[in-house]
Amino acid sequence: MKRTAFLGALGAVAALGATGARARAYTVTHSDAQWRRILGDRYYILRENGTEPAFSSPLIAEKRTGTYRCAGCATTLFNSEMKYDSGDGWPSFFTVRPHVTRTRADFELPGEPRTEVHCATCGGHLGHIFDDGPAPTHLRYCIDGLALVFVPSNALK
Ligand SMILES: [Zn+2]
Repeated sequence: MKRTAFLGALGAVAALGATGARARAYTVTHSDAQWRRILGDRYYILRENGTEPAFSSPLIAEKRTGTYRCAGCATTLFNSEMKYDSGDGWPSFFTVRPHVTRTRADFELPGEPRTEVHCATCGGHLGHIFDDGPAPTHLRYCIDGLALVFVPSNALK
């Protein structure tokens, strides 16, 4: 009897863990194994808060009109009109479409508190936001190119 009650409590704890704050908040969710299969090389960025090497993304030089979508769930995050050349080594934007991203404090680098930005739909890590961007927002969304898929507008016609 006691043993059953104990196992029941364990099950309840496991259930709580499976629906923790991060998992329950997003409308697009997959198991870790599924994310690995879906994302391939992008997994490290989107699911493990990784950062791609500076100046490695072909999207830095992308000048065409179009949209930048989350590589995890295809949500449109940025338009080409929001992009600018920051010279920092990553695709940069001075603003983001409303309600498609969330932020949280990131203390991973000692002595350098940063604002992390992630997709509001799937929770995928996108990059960081800094306050040294151009007017009118003075924000710099420093985004990993591997977190994005660019769709040129002429591809939609
Ligand atoms: Zn997403």
